Amino acid sequence: MTGDGLDLHFLGTGGGRHVMTSQMRRTAGIRLVHDDTHVHIDPGPGALVFSNWAQLSPRKLNALIVTHCHPDHYSDAEVFVEAMTNGTHTKRGLLAATTSVLEGAEGIGPSISDYHKGLVRDLLTLERGTKFSVNDLDFTANEARHSDPNSVGLRVETPYGSIGYTSDTGYFEGVSEQYLGNRLLILCTVWPRSNPINIHLNTDDALRILEEAKPKACILTHFGVRMLRAGPEGEAAYLQEKTGIPVVAARDGMKAHISDVITLQGPRKTDEPMIIDA
Ligand SMILES: [Zn+2]
Ligand SMILES: [Zn+2]
Repeated sequence: MTGDGLDLHFLGTGGGRHVMTSQMRRTAGIRLVHDDTHVHIDPGPGALVFSNWAQLSPRKLNALIVTHCHPDHYSDAEVFVEAMTNGTHTKRGLLAATTSVLEGAEGIGPSISDYHKGLVRDLLTLERGTKFSVNDLDFTANEARHSDPNSVGLRVETPYGSIGYTSDTGYFEGVSEQYLGNRLLILCTVWPRSNPINIHLNTDDALRILEEAKPKACILTHFGVRMLRAGPEGEAAYLQEKTGIPVVAARDGMKAHISDVITLQGPRKTDEPMIIDA
């Protein structure tokens, strides 16, 4: 592999309504940056503020992706559309989101107005199997089973290998196949071990997916209150010990730089860079 690599900024690592409303962890989503290409995934509450704090202005966005119609994933989407379109003056950018987000479905949504949908250059409805590209990043929407029936996960083929992002989903037969071959798999692991939950992943579900999908490395994120009380770092260490796959719990402001190796950089100046695959 050559070039300068690709960055994933974990602007928020919280999930679920209690963490979202208390901001025990931020809920600002993930910014993917490759050269001049910026894609923001799931801009929940705080996305506008913490993007700008991180000097990742939403004006730089080429694409905005909303994986389902829950506010920890969509709340700042309209503001981001206004930023991406140069304050509504330039018809530019891609907005890719589920039917629930764009049109409403089964009593939820829509969460983005017709006015905002009309501002972007490209509007795409995401359903299982939808493929689209943003410059040289090739996305596929994966099946997710969650309380929003339209929910999707994502798989991104990049010049540095493929990245998976489950978004919110319960475990189901076949979930892992969609993430086979991933260099990095991001698991939205809301609850810790021994806390069964249908519409989200807990650490036990994460273990099954890791054993089945066998990514080269894994980052846990989207933590709920129970997970934060149990300690995401301990859950990550457990998964790493069980699977032999490097597993790290994301922190707010952490950056994963993906090139010949994957290097994690914490948000503090004193944080030492950590390489999680060679
Ligand atoms: Zn969520
Ligand atoms: Zn959700």
